[in-house]
Amino acid sequence: MTAILALFSTGCQATKPTAAPAAFTQAQQAATSPTAALARLKEGNARYVEGRPLGHDWAKARAATAGGQYPYAIILSCVDSRTASEIIFDQGFGEVFNARVAGNVLDEDLLGSMEFACKLAGARLIAVVGHTQCGAIKGACAGAQLGHLTGLLEKIRPAIQAATGSQPANLPANAALLDEIAKQNVRLVLEQIRVRSAVLSELIQNGQVGLVGGIYDLKSGKVSFFEN
Ligand SMILES: [Zn+2]
Repeated sequence: MTAILALFSTGCQATKPTAAPAAFTQAQQAATSPTAALARLKEGNARYVEGRPLGHDWAKARAATAGGQYPYAIILSCVDSRTASEIIFDQGFGEVFNARVAGNVLDEDLLGSMEFACKLAGARLIAVVGHTQCGAIKGACAGAQLGHLTGLLEKIRPAIQAATGSQPANLPANAALLDEIAKQNVRLVLEQIRVRSAVLSELIQNGQVGLVGGIYDLKSGKVSFFEN
């Protein structure tokens, strides 16, 4: 019994998380470069992968951030229920803007959200994060058609073209091909951000804002960022 209690006690000590800061402050945001912003995301993802996330006191964080927010990044990712940015990057309230749409495709409203985040709210990094085995990409490969989903999946077709060199109807996409299309999709979204938004393009060009893409692995939990 004593041995069991001791084991339990040791286990509790071993898993006690480091307390997360209550808020990300305006001074911290101002001092965060695009490179440092990416490093923060990488560190958070490493904590998540290793199963040692910070101890988030959400009530305390809510109180500390209710009066204002100073996020250092905006993350565009998929609506997939397994890819919530705050969780996979171990972030608290007020640290990142979180934009989500099936297949992490781009539209005018998302560009507007990024322009708000970076030009007006001071974020220093735009991260576009796709994921492995994405259902939206599967749907685009299969040529799925349904209400408004049809138009959304059309936005993924250039990535299929980029990965396969063609746009076959009902493409039998295996796991590796799906992930390659997901990668191409992120790359094309990064390109579109530069081309379609003069506001963001200027911020990126003069080094005020960084732009990075990556893929989240549903199995390992790791986000692999494109380094070029
Ligand atoms: Zn997805």
